[in-house]
Amino acid sequence: MSTPRKSTLRNRSYDVVIVGAGSLGVPTAMALSGMGVKTLVLDGRPSPGQGENKAAIGGIRATHSDPAKITACLRSLRIVSTWQQTHGDDLEWLKGGYLFPVYREQDRQALLSLLPIQRKYGLKVDFIDTASVGELVPGIATEGLLGGHYSPDDGSASPLLCTNAFYRRACALGAHFRFNETVDRVIVAGGRAHAVRTAAGETIPCGVVINAAGATAQDLCARSGVGLPVVAEAHEAGITEPVARLFSCMVVDIRPAEGSKNFYFYQSARGQVVFCITPEPPILKADRRETSTFLPQVATRLVELLPRLRNLRVRRTWRGLYPMTPDASPVVGWDCAVEGLFHVAGMCGQGFMLGPGLAETIAREVSGKTTAEDEIILKGFDLNRDFCGTEFLK
Ligand SMILES: Cc1cc2nc3c(=O)[nH]c(=O)nc-3n(C[C@H](O)[C@H](O)[C@H](O)COP(=O)(O)OP(=O)(O)OC[C@H]3O[C@@H](n4cnc5c(N)ncnc54)[C@H](O)[C@@H]3O)c2cc1C
Repeated sequence: MSTPRKSTLRNRSYDVVIVGAGSLGVPTAMALSGMGVKTLVLDGRPSPGQGENKAAIGGIRATHSDPAKITACLRSLRIVSTWQQTHGDDLEWLKGGYLFPVYREQDRQALLSLLPIQRKYGLKVDFIDTASVGELVPGIATEGLLGGHYSPDDGSASPLLCTNAFYRRACALGAHFRFNETVDRVIVAGGRAHAVRTAAGETIPCGVVINAAGATAQDLCARSGVGLPVVAEAHEAGITEPVARLFSCMVVDIRPAEGSKNFYFYQSARGQVVFCITPEPPILKADRRETSTFLPQVATRLVELLPRLRNLRVRRTWRGLYPMTPDASPVVGWDCAVEGLFHVAGMCGQGFMLGPGLAETIAREVSGKTTAEDEIILKGFDLNRDFCGTEFLK
């Protein structure tokens, strides 16, 4: 096993160049600038959050079973839920909780078995009875319902509002952003990242390069002669017209059905029902064109689970990409071969919820000032792991 090539910040024109102004790049720039680190963010798109960030449906849960994800997302929840009070921007935060309604004994056992580790890392979670599930989601199908796993402190927010608020804050703290600037490659010499070269041919020297390029993080690496275990996986989502409040929690139905592994939906702060499905088998391609099969497939599942949604009108559907790793957990850390190259990649279906919390850890690691909590996160997302396990609530 090779040792990650750490780097100290050097006095370059920029201490850090971040490739990608998305769910991770923007809050990372905010955290670095808050620590006085001279930071430049480059993005090939015209404004912040225009990559997979805007494909996210807005779910933020700390309800995982992996300590690294729990720790980072608890922090994200703190940041997002207090943002309006602290900084004034409305992020459409809604503390509706996450509910996993359970219809199969095997799922009940699996979710019950997660409670001890979830509670150990500070989550307020419980297994609730069928009547309580019905109170949270009036009209939910009750045939075979065994109860549900419920975490009241989770919630949702608007990915675009969040990223734009973090962007404005990062700028106010001194971060520089350049849009419509694609990075062609990281320039490596003598085993160390020295600079990035843009597609326009400009070389920008820096002490550290952070690869936060989302679903194309592996392409940037390939052009730079570096390997990274991230592939793009296509996922679709949709949104309805706004209606009076029916329920507030994110509902995650973990039962498989033909063509899907699970599906999930919630009613946003604006009253729109937002929904997503996890295709099975996975669609391993970087294709953002939405399909005509998604809506009938997801609508059947939605109406079966919650028949009162049947007359809701769908406004639009879209497709985005999960930057997937083999074990569905992110890779966050120094490259093993190239000193000064730090990967913040492979966020899978959780980059929006991980972003703000993870960003603080990244900023401290790059500045050499990590806390014990950061070490839990960095250990869990270590690039040097074996990628064998997969979290149950991945
Ligand atoms: C349908 C769907 C629903 C989802 N729902 C949720 C959810 O509810 N909650 C959640 O937490 N996550 C969700 N996700 C996942 C989430 O969107 C991603 O995990 C997250 O956006 C990834 O963040 P990122 O910063 O790695 O990538 P991005 O946000 O895509 O940012 C990467 C940026 O890098 C830029 N870039 C790439 N290459 C280059 C280059 N060479 N030069 C310059 N710029 C470059 C891109 O333009 C982009 O802006 C969902 C995803 C999809 C598709």
